[in-house]
Amino acid sequence: MTWAPTDSSGKTDELDSVRSSSPLAPSSSPLDDLQSVAPMILNVELRDRGLARYDGPKRLVAGEVLQSTAQLVQITEWSGEQLLTNLGCPLRTHGDLAAVDIKRLTRCQTFLRFLSRLTGLVDVVPDRRAVVIECAGLLKTTGRDADGLVELVESGDFTPVDYIRLGEIGAAAELARTIAAQGATPVQDMATTGPFGEAPIVHLSTARIEMYIADMHDALGNEVSQRIKAHLERCEACAEAVAYCRAHAAVPEGVDLPLPAELARPTPTPR
Ligand SMILES: [Zn+2]
Repeated sequence: MTWAPTDSSGKTDELDSVRSSSPLAPSSSPLDDLQSVAPMILNVELRDRGLARYDGPKRLVAGEVLQSTAQLVQITEWSGEQLLTNLGCPLRTHGDLAAVDIKRLTRCQTFLRFLSRLTGLVDVVPDRRAVVIECAGLLKTTGRDADGLVELVESGDFTPVDYIRLGEIGAAAELARTIAAQGATPVQDMATTGPFGEAPIVHLSTARIEMYIADMHDALGNEVSQRIKAHLERCEACAEAVAYCRAHAAVPEGVDLPLPAELARPTPTPR
């Protein structure tokens, strides 16, 4: 799969344009960095011209950025435009690529590589898309850079990445936002802190438990299904929730299961 440029007319050679009168402000947001290379992602002609003019190191990083983008496009089954839109980047097909510096490209690549890694943890397209959307949201709400995002999603005993590995993208994002809101203090075991410290945390949402019980492995994804199985062997709370749902599985279709409130959805933080 390749990118589909929105504008391949190439009538204007923006590379020859006068550099922007205001130099690019230093930015810590990977999305700003990505925005600066959006024209290269969306406009094949501009990309080829840009790459040809970059010196060795810059060409190398720019090539990696484009490769990572192509990878994300492929596994999300989005077009380049859709990917950028969902990341919250304006769809600029022209820009001064000579002004794109190697620092920006490198930061951009750090973010894209990390996004590819996270997205690759889940098997099915809707989950992969959710990972991209939630990561973009996290960058905006937390104001973190790529390294900050890495740190955030790997914080705690049961980390946001652990949630993603179970396919629970929404819970992963919610936990990450909670950790970010708590500041730099690393979250220890959220299950054993707070006034309701003893309440066991169910990591799986009711929807996923029901899919798991119904053997909907295609919808869950095979890798994710395997991880859920392994998780149930060592997480008592989730195993109990699955047992509860199994016990109520004989209820005729169309009848709502009266689930306890704590099973209604994953609760990263005790309330
Ligand atoms: Zn669990």
